[in-house]
Amino acid sequence: MSRAEEKKLVLVVEDEEDIQQMVCYNLLRSGWRVECATSGEDALEIFAAKHPDLILLDLMLPGLSGMEVCRRIRNGADNADVPVIMLTARGEEDDIVAGLEAGADDYVTKPFSPRVLLARVAAVLRRKGGGERMPLITAGPLTIDPNRHHAEVDGRELDLTPTEFAVLSLLASRPGWVFSRDSIIDAVRGHGYAVTPRAVDVQVFGLRRKLGAASSMIETVRGVGYRLRREGKMSMANNVDTLLVKPDTP
Ligand code: CA
Repeated sequence: MSRAEEKKLVLVVEDEEDIQQMVCYNLLRSGWRVECATSGEDALEIFAAKHPDLILLDLMLPGLSGMEVCRRIRNGADNADVPVIMLTARGEEDDIVAGLEAGADDYVTKPFSPRVLLARVAAVLRRKGGGERMPLITAGPLTIDPNRHHAEVDGRELDLTPTEFAVLSLLASRPGWVFSRDSIIDAVRGHGYAVTPRAVDVQVFGLRRKLGAASSMIETVRGVGYRLRREGKMSMANNVDTLLVKPDTP
């Protein structure tokens, strides 16, 4: 971010004034541009007008909830794949699962440190924005294009959430390899994450449903985790690491 025109715009949606100020102050100091909203309605208005590069979205808002804001953005025509990081209260596991299902890319639980938040923002933007092109991954009937966030099975496009896409990309990066639930969480969402194994199971359940006839490609390894069945001939990305997002260690 050496030049002004490269500064990314973050939309901060948060009704608690002290949290909003802390977040905005730290984002500005780190060289981001910032827009603030204190309600879901404001958030959608600013989103439509300013085209932010990323949204930090509090779930508990007066009026329209954060979850509903996320859903409307994802279902909209314009900039629908903007990265969204939810701000949630600690221990709200159901909210986290529902938020990820509504299409959020990541979440941070309150209270959080500015450094953790900034690391997550940078990681999500890196994951979504990426500079260099990544190679296609193919495994059996499955083809994944990490650059376009596009996956298809037997030529049929899969409509995946960002998290489902990340899980599928991870499994497909090493067909036959068993990934534990913990390693899936680490690879997809960053180390030290308070995601429960159940959240991984929810993602896999959704993936299998969308894979349809090819759902058996994802095998459950009892007591361990999941793997993509090794079958047919497959070519692998050499550059698998680019798919695995590791958190920053500031
Ligand atoms: Ca709130």
